[in-house]
Amino acid sequence: MSTETMLKDTYHFKEIFALLSKNMETAQTPLVTRKKWEKIQKTPFTVLISCILSLRTKDEVTEEASIRLLRTYDTPQKLIDLPEETIQELIYPVGFYKTKAKRIKELSQTLIKSYNGEVPNDFEKLLTLKGVGRKTANIVMVYGFDNPHHLPIDTHCHRIPNRLGWVKTKTPEETEQQLRTILPKRYWSDFNHLFVTFGQTICTPISPHCSTCPINKYCKKIQVKTYR
Ligand code: SF4
Repeated sequence: MSTETMLKDTYHFKEIFALLSKNMETAQTPLVTRKKWEKIQKTPFTVLISCILSLRTKDEVTEEASIRLLRTYDTPQKLIDLPEETIQELIYPVGFYKTKAKRIKELSQTLIKSYNGEVPNDFEKLLTLKGVGRKTANIVMVYGFDNPHHLPIDTHCHRIPNRLGWVKTKTPEETEQQLRTILPKRYWSDFNHLFVTFGQTICTPISPHCSTCPINKYCKKIQVKTYR
């Protein structure tokens, strides 16, 4: 049996991705992961800023704040002259809005000073920017630069593969490393938005909706103690 067939038999990637694609197609996905942006220009910079706004913040709040800020100030050049207080007012009530306003201003300055006003199309360089961790850098690579060779792992993308029994990990970083070795690359570009949406609607952190879950029969339900 080939390695690919063995992986397919063990993890049921094909079946699970097909079922999730079908079931999640009508669900609203977070702004950064959407293919088409309606009210603001989608660029690596706007994806980066929206991702920073989204940390510890509900999707609806992030979306409204992103639109208020980025429909006018969608480049580092436009943001750099904006007083920090004005950025705060535009992004309020996102979580940690004061810190994020400061960070956004600093980021714009760094991009202008070190990268000619552009977001670097380079994962390692993204990681050197203040306030940009692996998740944000991966999101900018996938959704800002359409680069399918990255796996952004948030809390849902970490929790669900553990419940399914695909990985056994303690941190999102470990999950990213293990998924890189077992998940065939053709699924990478769909992984984040499918699993985030699935985690927000069905495989929720507390008491997941296992009785109506489309992939129930493929799930080992590791560490799932209560469910609906
Ligand atoms: S069966 Fe339950 S734990 Fe498993 S993926 Fe579905 S909702 Fe999540």
